[in-house]
Amino acid sequence: MVNYSEIMSAKSIHKIGILTSGGDSPGMNAAIRAVVRTAIYHKMEVFGILHGYSGMVNDDIIKMDTKSVANIIQRGGTILKTARCKEFMTPEGRSKAYKNLQKRGIEGLVIIGGDGSFRGAQVFSNEYNIPCIGLPGTIDKDIAGTDFTIGFDTAVNTAVEAIDKIRDTADAHDRLFIIEVMGRDAGYIALHSGIATGAENILIPERKTNIDEIIEALKEKEKRKKLVNIIIVAEGEEFGGANEVSNYIKDKLPKTEVRVCILGHIQRGGSPSCMDRVIASRMGYHAVDCLLEGKFNVFVGIVNNKMHSIPLNEAVKKKQRINDEWIKMVKILAS
Ligand code: ADP
Repeated sequence: MVNYSEIMSAKSIHKIGILTSGGDSPGMNAAIRAVVRTAIYHKMEVFGILHGYSGMVNDDIIKMDTKSVANIIQRGGTILKTARCKEFMTPEGRSKAYKNLQKRGIEGLVIIGGDGSFRGAQVFSNEYNIPCIGLPGTIDKDIAGTDFTIGFDTAVNTAVEAIDKIRDTADAHDRLFIIEVMGRDAGYIALHSGIATGAENILIPERKTNIDEIIEALKEKEKRKKLVNIIIVAEGEEFGGANEVSNYIKDKLPKTEVRVCILGHIQRGGSPSCMDRVIASRMGYHAVDCLLEGKFNVFVGIVNNKMHSIPLNEAVKKKQRINDEWIKMVKILAS
């Protein structure tokens, strides 16, 4: 039987480049592995572009084979390294990048990154008419059009594990703990980890922080002798983060024992969860299909467990929305 996609690959795209860009997220390696091996299966040549768009601008590009992605599916970070690249934001930088691709005959790109990286892909693709397929790699889960992003599940489970440990000590001392998790613009890590650990309050950038309501609730809980409280704060929450929230509470409730813990970069690292490895593998595999089918300027998303290719524009223009019902639920469950 004729394998249609092999014919397409032989005729259309022979050489592709792959890069990871922006913030790293666990599972990026699993996605790289899937893209490289699927592309090689379809008889393509694959080039790894190092340090995100910087590698394209500065010609830091290596040839990859099946062996170069051996033993990486379980590793966090990214073997291709990642970076933020100001030069790529200029037409001159992108022109240098394009020449470096042209030199090798690279005809298509797979970009694993967040919405910023997708924006770069879109601009580049429009300028140089080169197919760019995005894979949503971000711990923040803030990309519209997909139920999952690579890295969120691992990051949120790291946060949950840490918060559980903090709750033990909070419980032993009858303390209020204010725990800051990552999320400058998006509250998904805060929301999910907060629900999963039974937090009393969850403060996220997408909602106004009603600090006085929190103070009143703490006073009321003190009367009921409910002294162990966990407040999860996303770093981009409007009040300014865990330290600011803590200072305000200490000022209003001087007798309350308050401690702050900022989880920080541990949320980005570590071995990817099973879920992240599986979605990264499926997305990487599908990205090559997209190139074979001649798709342009799309990213790969999963909706209702099905693979979709969604215009990059969707991710660049829209944000995932927080469900108000979840916010209501948090209050009821933590009462
Ligand atoms: P993330 O992909 O994690 O959201 P960034 O927002 O930092 O990360 O974007 C990663 C990189 O994508 C930037 O350093 C830049 O090189 C490129 N990029 C972002 N926006 C644009 C743009 N409008 N034009 C060209 N390149 C862009």
